[in-house]
Amino acid sequence: MTPQQLRERLEFYQDLGIKTLYRPKVQTQHVEQASTPAAAVQTPQPELPPLAPPNETLLQILEEIGDCKRCRLHEGRNKLVFGVGNEQARLVFVGEGPGADEDEQGFPFVGRAGQLLTQMIEGTAKKEGIPLARPDVYICNVVKCRPPENRTPLPDEMEICGQFLFRQLQTIRPKAICALGSTAAKALLGTKDGVMRLRGKWHKWRDIPVMVTYHPSYLLRPYNQNAKREAWEDLKRVLHFVYD
Ligand code: SF4
Repeated sequence: MTPQQLRERLEFYQDLGIKTLYRPKVQTQHVEQASTPAAAVQTPQPELPPLAPPNETLLQILEEIGDCKRCRLHEGRNKLVFGVGNEQARLVFVGEGPGADEDEQGFPFVGRAGQLLTQMIEGTAKKEGIPLARPDVYICNVVKCRPPENRTPLPDEMEICGQFLFRQLQTIRPKAICALGSTAAKALLGTKDGVMRLRGKWHKWRDIPVMVTYHPSYLLRPYNQNAKREAWEDLKRVLHFVYD
């Protein structure tokens, strides 16, 4: 890569809001009996995420991801979970990462939390007189492979896989994004603030308004009934903003 190409690539990442790059440890292996440093062989080269070509489609992004091994999460993956829904959606929901059901089926939000999300979208829309069903929106996650034991994705995993999320959002260009939980908020807004602080207000990813609300799996816990009511309020605001 020439210095010019490297500069362009780094400027592209900067535009995406990426301030640090993950660089896997390069293993340096000396050729047997090599007498000079020049004889050292470096393997493997760190793989940098590719640049997004203009007018990219979701299919192209999916092809680009391929049998991705760019981060350690591929190790326990059963199925890669790219995203689902309307490719021209006016509203995109972004969650954290696949759970066991999603990893099994290859689609986001298909487990209990997913059923709750569907109820939230369709129930709120119906109540508010908005003709909207789950397939009308687009749903995806920050990381495409299930973290072990459903742990929170690590910063380097979010950074590598997050560039695919950004490309999905760039391609769909929705009118608004709803970030479900603090991992999605962190990836989109680069903030350390938690959901309680961020929710109920509009933020921005580039020029697209972002509403942060609770992740449905948090709402499944019986002692979070207040949060449930707040999440419904957040969703109501998003739906009216996008579909009125
Ligand atoms: S989580 Fe994303 S970057 Fe990591 S292996 Fe899966 S698709 Fe690749």
